[in-house]
Amino acid sequence: MHQKPDADAMGSSLGLYNVLIALGHRVTVISPTNWADWLSWMPGAEKVLDYELNTPKSNELLAEADWIFCLDFNILYRTKKMAEPIAAAPGIRILIDHHQQPQREAFAYGISDTSKSSASEMVFDFIESAAMGSKINRDVAQCLYAGVMTDTGSFRFPSASASVHRMVAVLKDTGFDHSKVHENLFDNFLENRLRFLGHALLNRMEVIYEYNTALISIPWKDLVKYQIRTGDTEGLVNYPLTIEGIKFAALIIDRDEEIKCSFRSKGSFDVNQFARNYFEGGGHRNAAGGRSNETLDQTTQRFRASLIENALQLQ
Ligand code: 5GP
Ligand code: MN
Repeated sequence: MHQKPDADAMGSSLGLYNVLIALGHRVTVISPTNWADWLSWMPGAEKVLDYELNTPKSNELLAEADWIFCLDFNILYRTKKMAEPIAAAPGIRILIDHHQQPQREAFAYGISDTSKSSASEMVFDFIESAAMGSKINRDVAQCLYAGVMTDTGSFRFPSASASVHRMVAVLKDTGFDHSKVHENLFDNFLENRLRFLGHALLNRMEVIYEYNTALISIPWKDLVKYQIRTGDTEGLVNYPLTIEGIKFAALIIDRDEEIKCSFRSKGSFDVNQFARNYFEGGGHRNAAGGRSNETLDQTTQRFRASLIENALQLQ
């Protein structure tokens, strides 16, 4: 899965993990980095290795694996320090992903489908088409549900197709408690995170009506002051899109080791292309990310300048 996994990266991986375990395989899920606490309820999460904390063991497992499933990312560098050992591993690399422009040569087999809502939906399709549907138990269902629900913005994005809803019906038939999944993911934060959200929206958001754009930029000192943890900033980038007329939202965070950018759009503005052009990133048409080595001020200035170059699509 990609670094700093979200619910789809973790959910698709653990969904597949639980099926492969049921089939009697020896399976280890490795995350390139740590992950948000609110993902740790997923069945099997307690066994996931954090690559940064378990590097020698993870390298050993990668080197001896027959198959390496790569889920919810398109380019090996998305696995950060794991990219090299994955590329060097003698096992068969299999991609299951819905991001644009996959690095084809890095994988022996793969399913890359940008029309899919989530990697979790693709894992579901994979299991069903392999006639292993009977292995979809409650554990598998909860993991895949978490992934598809979050990647479709709680079933509101255009990607929430009829097939997605049919899949949810099949998952629900296992009897898992979907309300509990929503609670685990969305109602499990500390007070500080909500205070931080208020602060960010009040003091760090700039609305640029001329370009139907809003920018939230967060200095490192805010993350320290509010004791922001991995996963606490997830979702923040979506708020500006609730302003009437805003089509493009950016969140630029100084994470100290680097500047992390998140982009979201509504309608035709392609943030995947935007992230590729300006911020060494990528993703989907309406949700993408990137990074920068400059200072926060330099990055936000470059962002503002880039709006002028994209004026035709934004105005
Ligand atoms: P987020 O803003 O939530 O980090 O990412 C939004 C989407 O873009 C996710 O699907 C994520 O996997 C993808 N993404 C984020 N950062 C990058 C990046 O640096 N490169 C690429 N290729 N995709 C990214
Ligand atoms: Mn995904």
